[in-house]
Amino acid sequence: MNRLHGAIRSYDWGSHTVLAELTGRPSPSDRPEAELWLGAHPADPARVDDAASGVSLLDVISADPHGQLGEANAERFRGRLPFLLKVLAAEEPLSLQAHPNSMQAREGFERENANGVPLDSPARNYKDDNHKPELVVALTRFEALAGFRDVRRTVVLLRALGVAELDRCAEQLAAQADSSGVRALFTQWITGDEHSVTLIGDVVEACQRYLSTERDRVAWEFAAEAQTALDLGNRYPNDPGVLISLLLNRITLEPGEGLFLAAGNLHAYLRGVAVEIMASSDNVLRGGLTPKHVDVPELLKVLDFRPGSMPVVRADGDGRDNTRVYETPEREFELTRLQLDTSRSNASSSTANLAAGDPRIVFCTAGSTILSSPGASLELSAGQSAWLPASNPAVTLAPAQQRAQVFVATIGSG
Ligand SMILES: [Zn+2]
Repeated sequence: MNRLHGAIRSYDWGSHTVLAELTGRPSPSDRPEAELWLGAHPADPARVDDAASGVSLLDVISADPHGQLGEANAERFRGRLPFLLKVLAAEEPLSLQAHPNSMQAREGFERENANGVPLDSPARNYKDDNHKPELVVALTRFEALAGFRDVRRTVVLLRALGVAELDRCAEQLAAQADSSGVRALFTQWITGDEHSVTLIGDVVEACQRYLSTERDRVAWEFAAEAQTALDLGNRYPNDPGVLISLLLNRITLEPGEGLFLAAGNLHAYLRGVAVEIMASSDNVLRGGLTPKHVDVPELLKVLDFRPGSMPVVRADGDGRDNTRVYETPEREFELTRLQLDTSRSNASSSTANLAAGDPRIVFCTAGSTILSSPGASLELSAGQSAWLPASNPAVTLAPAQQRAQVFVATIGSG
């Protein structure tokens, strides 16, 4: 096992303090820091601390795929680590986006290659041939928009804002209260004519009115939705993403709660700090709330318009077991949370064991933990991480002091 140093990615929506403080660097940072990448993605691999100098985890795995990943995993995933673990620190909203499924990614990647679109072109949609399902788990309260809301609820929201054009849209949606109705309204808004630019302004004003008027409890049920549309409208005054935000579930995750985003799910993270695990891919189709490239026809091909609520993924259990898996259907990744606590009466709740045979990234988010295996030990404090190759013997984790919270990323068993 080796200490792992993640790669910091700087984007405008990031934080000047969160990742700097988490990783023990001077805070505030010069640039906004948005993501910490813990993985072997070719665009920004983490470094493995090997004695004096760090080497890229990508190189470590390429040099010995069978030892690092395990024989079966290396064959199955063509010698590559199939997941990427990130820490997100969102101070401002990210763009509205969706990710392709495997077939769409392969087809899109080959098509853009054949058309000669350079890999680093801003007009490039498909950076690789892989799908990118993702699971986000909140470290602080985490706000997001994700998935199209149940149509009947959306109709109530659109009517509550008191804008004539929205009333018309609500009628249209009520008359076709299914995925094709959602698709029709979404398409109308995102392909926006001048008409819809006027509507964005009207919606922002209506949200302001809605939030500032004394209202009964029923009418206030969409306060978070209205506040979000208002904030987005102030930031992106002519962006159809402001209207589209009204069609999506407005979600608040408490620390420890997760959200799984399958292929085609339209989402935007709004604010908060989270751990995120995904298939190792960079394929993003944007739908707005961004100055970057938006390819509407391509987005329409991948979006899943089926309306409904988004289930919160919990690492549930009986309160005695300290090891909890966040269940998803994906085979590329699995995320587990360990809560190690020496003060619990049950002695076994203070330690956890990781079997040999699979590659793992261990990331401590609170307290500090000691990893030990025959002949080796490593202490990780909050913000620090380690790489455990498949060839590593079994590892026991215990809190260095009283408590530790640790996330463990590995390949899915599905
Ligand atoms: Zn995403």
